[in-house]
Amino acid sequence: MKTWSEVAEVQPLASRIITNSITKNRISHAYLIQGERGTGKEEIALLLAKDLFCEDKKGVEPCQQCNACKRIASGNHPDVHWIEPDGLSIKKEQIDQLQKEFSYSGLESNRKVYIIKDADALTTNAANRILKFLEEPSKETTAIMLTENGQSIISTIRSRCQIIDLQPLNAELFRQQLIESGVSEGSARILSALTNNFNEATSWNEDEWFAQARKLMVQLIEMFSTKPADAFLFIHNSWLSHFKERQQLEQGFDLLLLAFKDILYYHLGNETAMIVFTSDNEKLERASMVFSQEKLLSILHAILQAKRKLKQNVHPTLVMEQLTLQIQR
Ligand SMILES: [Zn+2]
Repeated sequence: MKTWSEVAEVQPLASRIITNSITKNRISHAYLIQGERGTGKEEIALLLAKDLFCEDKKGVEPCQQCNACKRIASGNHPDVHWIEPDGLSIKKEQIDQLQKEFSYSGLESNRKVYIIKDADALTTNAANRILKFLEEPSKETTAIMLTENGQSIISTIRSRCQIIDLQPLNAELFRQQLIESGVSEGSARILSALTNNFNEATSWNEDEWFAQARKLMVQLIEMFSTKPADAFLFIHNSWLSHFKERQQLEQGFDLLLLAFKDILYYHLGNETAMIVFTSDNEKLERASMVFSQEKLLSILHAILQAKRKLKQNVHPTLVMEQLTLQIQR
């Protein structure tokens, strides 16, 4: 989403609210943009920032060509600052540091924009610092806070912000976007079931590790349905050496979850439009003859439990062994 008219296709309300305030020259001091991953928070923040500095705007659309637009796009504009959590939270020191930078670099203009990613990670102290910022009348400061979790932003901040609610992403539209960018239809189905973040999806699409992960998932399911006694060995010899990091293991569970859902859909018969792994359909359909519907439901439950155990820091090998036993039984 590089223009307001593109934003309007996906987030019509947000686009209208913000472009109206630009047209009427009534930009808020603070915006709180809240929406799920992949709904366009950062793109909207960038567009708004460009609007405030662009040297050659066409109506509400920034030109994308001028020095200011280019510097904002590359994250190098002296008056546009990005803040994100340092570890688990955004700390008061980060905001202090920012204020210092602002006071040094006030040469170009009085206008300052700061974009705060994961604003729900602001500590109370940091949030109070920002409030002070917002109340400073001498500066034309605009704060753009982004969050997936607006409810955890303290009310004193919320009440000072114009709140922009983004709509959840339309899965069908997202799939189309992926296909238009060159992702195959089959892969677009899988990727859009795993994430709603465009950049994440396209990078996985080109990722050798991810391609191998898909193959291993299909092999494991074949094993469960044809030679379940060998699954344990496969887990140790192949699975755990590929899914090493916690994030990778989680993705392995997500792949298994989607595949077992597919198998359940085959079982139910008339839900084939829901199938995610269309290119491995034969193997998964065959597996649907081995497992009862009841068994499939208990497997889905077991995979979700395994994901939770991983989050609770249970050792990955143990989690995977337990899951294998549950599926074998
Ligand atoms: Zn421009």
